[in-house]
Amino acid sequence: MAKPLADMQATFDPGAVMPDASGHFGVYGGRFVSETLMPALEELEMAWRRYIHDPEFMQRLDKDLAEFVGRPSPIYFAENLTKAAGGAKILLKREDLNHTGAHKINNTVGQALLAHAMGKRRVIAETGAGQHGVASATVAARLGMECVVYMGADDIERQSPNVFRMKLMGATVVSVDTGSRTLKDALNEAMRDWVTNVDSTFYILGTAAGPHPYPAMVRDFNAIVGREARAQMLDQYGVLPDALVACVGGGSNALGLFHPFINDTDVKMVGVEAAGRGLSSEEHSATLCAGRVGVLHGSRTYLLDDDAGQIRDTYSVSAGLDYPGVGPEHAWLKDIGRAEYVGIDDQQAMEAFHMLSRTEGIIPALETAHGVAYGIELAREMSPDQIVLINLSGRGDKDINTVARLEGITL
Ligand SMILES: *Cc1c(COP(=O)(O)O)cnc(C)c1O
Repeated sequence: MAKPLADMQATFDPGAVMPDASGHFGVYGGRFVSETLMPALEELEMAWRRYIHDPEFMQRLDKDLAEFVGRPSPIYFAENLTKAAGGAKILLKREDLNHTGAHKINNTVGQALLAHAMGKRRVIAETGAGQHGVASATVAARLGMECVVYMGADDIERQSPNVFRMKLMGATVVSVDTGSRTLKDALNEAMRDWVTNVDSTFYILGTAAGPHPYPAMVRDFNAIVGREARAQMLDQYGVLPDALVACVGGGSNALGLFHPFINDTDVKMVGVEAAGRGLSSEEHSATLCAGRVGVLHGSRTYLLDDDAGQIRDTYSVSAGLDYPGVGPEHAWLKDIGRAEYVGIDDQQAMEAFHMLSRTEGIIPALETAHGVAYGIELAREMSPDQIVLINLSGRGDKDINTVARLEGITL
């Protein structure tokens, strides 16, 4: 039986944890943007703080999450995968079952409602894997707003079904040919658009990164994942999980799961970054594992740069993890030791992709497969009476062309 929705409502507890009033998580975060954007960020922060305390707004959000997104998503006992791994019980939080196939819709529904309430009629977004672009196009179509999505030219090629989906829903997809032609370049272009059109436009940022208030706001909109998971664990198992595992690109699905457990200090939290062709190869996107502190896309955080301080071209088989920065809250959680960050390479992710598909009949997104790979490793080191909860952040339909190509199969 699904838990009654009332127990898992999207009520927030802002101020209970970081960031502080100036948008800092310890030394991380902040607002490193041009003067043109400061008023827009202040306007956004005021609206966000106002509407999350507005019962009518929150009712609308809860209703959309239930009836449009399809929440709550279940936690699923992966019995076959557990047997194959041979250790702790593996549970999956099924964000892949959401409308549009990933956790990203939790945040876009929230931000689009906010845009609507603020009277903005044009939304823009950046996208890597295309999932955030699709989620943004989806909510824009529903609310009758103009939608422009910036996407790296390489990602457009890797994720053509998602590009077509966005266009079907009426969005304009702008190909970004600069830099590494991936997510970071798309983000730069989206910021540039926002500076130019700040009066009419709401920027729907897709992950828990960027200038304040985005990291906290995106986390809060995704925290429905952890609130549900925590209630479901207590309801169905009578205990909290021993460990939470989630993949980390910018960090929104991981924070969404972690956040409501942050004071449950017995619950270990592990973020899994993309080690690409290996951490020593330089062809990876493992920012927290191998990066250093700097400023990127409006906030102080870990990033991947070269000796001259230029942002490096990153690499991962999964477009959604291929990002040289990470949300500032993760940088803080790493420094204070509340969460741990590890790397999983392309090959390990591919093995987990196939293993979950074959054992459970669930094809995960390639991003998600990184979390699954580490979750299996971790479960092996634990005992059968323990529980590992993996955030199944998205489904793999969008990735089947990539996987087929890698394996020399013509579809
Ligand atoms: C975008 C995406 C990610 C990575 O983004 P986060 O903000 O780190 O969650 C992970 N999984 C899926 C399925 C995605 O679409």
